[in-house]
Amino acid sequence: MSAIGMLDLRAEYAELRPAIDQAVQRVLASGQFILGPEGAALEAEIAALTGAAQAVAVASGTDALHLALRAAGIGPGDEVVLPAFTFIATAEAVSYTGARPVFADIDPATFNATAATLESALTPATRAAIVVHLYGQCAEMPEIARLCEARGLTLIEDCAQAIGADYDGRAAGAWGAYGCFSFYPTKNLGAYGDAGLVTVRSADDAARLRMLRHHGSGRTYEHEFVGYNSRLDELQAAILRAKLPHLARFNEARRRVAARYRKGLAGCDVLLPTEHGRGKHVYHQFTVRSAQRDALRAALGSAEIASGVYYPIPVHRQPAYADEHGACVLPASDAAAASVLSLPIHPYLREADIERVCAVLRDAKT
Ligand SMILES: *Cc1c(COP(=O)(O)O)cnc(C)c1O
Repeated sequence: MSAIGMLDLRAEYAELRPAIDQAVQRVLASGQFILGPEGAALEAEIAALTGAAQAVAVASGTDALHLALRAAGIGPGDEVVLPAFTFIATAEAVSYTGARPVFADIDPATFNATAATLESALTPATRAAIVVHLYGQCAEMPEIARLCEARGLTLIEDCAQAIGADYDGRAAGAWGAYGCFSFYPTKNLGAYGDAGLVTVRSADDAARLRMLRHHGSGRTYEHEFVGYNSRLDELQAAILRAKLPHLARFNEARRRVAARYRKGLAGCDVLLPTEHGRGKHVYHQFTVRSAQRDALRAALGSAEIASGVYYPIPVHRQPAYADEHGACVLPASDAAAASVLSLPIHPYLREADIERVCAVLRDAKT
């Protein structure tokens, strides 16, 4: 029996190879590698996909968050509220600006922050909220958008795990002032290196982000402010464009794997992920909960089945943040970190593989 990985990027390349190789050759032959037609076309295609007015491609998802915060004018003296149960990059982006991250708890059922958990972390210094659509399911966006509107907060979406997801038919990335995407290789739409993108509502915001990613420059060698080098290169843009037409099919395949897991794990002593039913979950991860998480993980490992813990330590308890934030009381984030277990999920996972994973979890002596 062969090992089962979390992901199979080699199978994806094997399927898409003609289109991807052609895209790479097209860029190599063009002699244009930074800020060219591929990046511009990708921006238009992702704007169309999400229903955003414009999109600006940047070097990574972390940079997308950082530059969005800068475009919103967030800086020293400001506070930005965000969930503690996320990848650390969400908080780092706030720290880079000189603003202070303030951690909110999550809804234990969906793993996402809610309007209520975000609201309880607000202070007079709060200027923005970052909501994370964790594991591929959107947070409750109408309520969160209303809260931000009422309190005058800039709403930023961390869509790194949720490309193609929606809430009430409105796409992830179309709710906030900024929608921040990552195309890290393992995301639902992955480049062959680092890549990211910000969706925006206005031409002004797009122009500001284009300058921020390019040394504060709008015109060649004129620099209006100190910016960054955070452009997406043409090779990554062309590869992403070759993959983008398959994203909807890949997300549907992930949803089928999830449905199959639900059947195979019924009666098994794990809590299955909750779908709130208000929009499409794109299952970046299929994450179960169990008090015996570590034992289950060991059983899977013995059967050569990969699994993941996203994330074992909430951000407020990470050494990088614990000195200042470790005393925060965020019980649902702590409970999630202690119990979550993500199972292999990707478009190439076979029926027999899914059944093998389920069988190991059913038979595990916990
Ligand atoms: C991947 C990820 C990021 C960071 O994206 P990079 O492209 O790796 O910089 C930020 N937030 C979340 C929730 C992520 O999953």
